[in-house]
Amino acid sequence: MVIVMRAGASQKEIDAVAARVKADGFGTQLVQGTERTIVCVLGDGRPVDQHKYDVMAGVEKTTRILQPFKLTSRTASAGDSTLQLNGARIGDKQIVVMAGPCSIESRTQMLETAHAVKEAGAQALRGGAFKPRTSPYSFQGMGEEGLQILAEAREQTGLPVITEVMSSEQVPIVTKYADVLQIGARNMQNYELLRSVGRTRHPIVLKRGLMSTIEELLMSAEYILSEGNRNVMLCERGIRTFETYTRNTTDINAIPVLKEMTHLPVILDPSHSVGKWAYVTAVARAGVAAGADGLLVEVHNEPDTALSDGAQSLKPERFAELVRQVRDVAASIGRE
Ligand code: PEP
Ligand code: MN
Repeated sequence: MVIVMRAGASQKEIDAVAARVKADGFGTQLVQGTERTIVCVLGDGRPVDQHKYDVMAGVEKTTRILQPFKLTSRTASAGDSTLQLNGARIGDKQIVVMAGPCSIESRTQMLETAHAVKEAGAQALRGGAFKPRTSPYSFQGMGEEGLQILAEAREQTGLPVITEVMSSEQVPIVTKYADVLQIGARNMQNYELLRSVGRTRHPIVLKRGLMSTIEELLMSAEYILSEGNRNVMLCERGIRTFETYTRNTTDINAIPVLKEMTHLPVILDPSHSVGKWAYVTAVARAGVAAGADGLLVEVHNEPDTALSDGAQSLKPERFAELVRQVRDVAASIGRE
């Protein structure tokens, strides 16, 4: 249930409502909108006596949330959530393009690619230092040395950096270097990891699991929000279907569905969605047309030599063309 306070309700009234919720044995979370505050009542399914709160001073109304995801639902927010990333704001009018290599492989590779994506108009830089590989014998990432290179790339380009965190133990080291933490598809239901990143205040990219439903994605986001971190963006990255021609199947439907169900920003990773560079730009255009707030794109200075995901990585000049096309699509639907 949420308790929507009146616009202009005093802090004393808000505190009194929150205190009563706690006294009744429920958890609370306050959502500060621009006009009003929402007090979220978090319980274990026990019935809440709604009317007792309806009559309290400063309360406008109480609303039950019927979905299993609560803080993630639109009911628990005063509007679309936006997420500040340096100069860019995700979830706002502008489509935020984040790009870079799948893995950080060397200083030269990372810095060259970083400057190229910045030049092409990317607003954030990606690069994995801890890689969730299908085979234990494949390149596993450079670890902390990779994070240091990523930090240098941030310094040189001014772009905020995104990198994957694979376990709770890695959270301190990754938060030390990165601006945005990525939870990979394979870890979408690693609930302990979700709670750990929920205790940070870093923006999180939560990728949809390969075999996960939209509702399961939202329930995973709920774990992060329930720990107090509301800075979450959801990422569609393709799901497994019977089709094997492309690496995964882009669930374009998920974008408008998620935008309806949740206040969180929604982004698309067209690279893992298709697995082949030749289709990345077309699917990126489709994602933006469907309402995505941002894109996460793999770009490599020399895809032929990449240690991971070279086949789906764009060369810098092709990425620059993607950015141009995506901005045109954005303009045609009243975005930037
Ligand atoms: C990645 O971003 O390089 C990655 C491993 O993505 P996913 O978790 O979506 O497979
Ligand atoms: Mn990858």
